[in-house]
Amino acid sequence: MTITPDPTTRLAETGARVTGPRRAVLDAVGGFGGPFTIEELCTAAPTVGRATVFRTVKLLQETGAVCRLVLEDGSVRYQRSEGGHHHHLVCSECGRVQEFADAELDRLIHSNAENAGFELDGHSLELYGRCATCA
Ligand SMILES: [Zn+2]
Ligand SMILES: [Zn+2]
Ligand SMILES: [Zn+2]
Repeated sequence: MTITPDPTTRLAETGARVTGPRRAVLDAVGGFGGPFTIEELCTAAPTVGRATVFRTVKLLQETGAVCRLVLEDGSVRYQRSEGGHHHHLVCSECGRVQEFADAELDRLIHSNAENAGFELDGHSLELYGRCATCA
């Protein structure tokens, strides 16, 4: 099992100042065991303005401490992440989202884009279904 550096450490490593409001957002992020919405984060950090919550989440995304994912219904969630490029396995029963990385899959995605003459900037991939526990 990998030890996830906590978001505060990640943020500090980038040289970003961990101000009071940012600290409050970080604490709130640390309190979620799974995916959360910006709304839920705002509720969990009631002293922090919405704009600051958004900015802090964006910053955390850039550091890789938090990643963004799209559920099957199109709604957006965030969750704490191991960082690095990866894909998601989204369980429709328990809501758990597992991360996986596959260099071979990425290679295929890149060659598909290339074959279509498409200039690829990035990609995200969510697989929907039931996790090992719920299946
Ligand atoms: Zn992720
Ligand atoms: Zn599940
Ligand atoms: Zn990929």
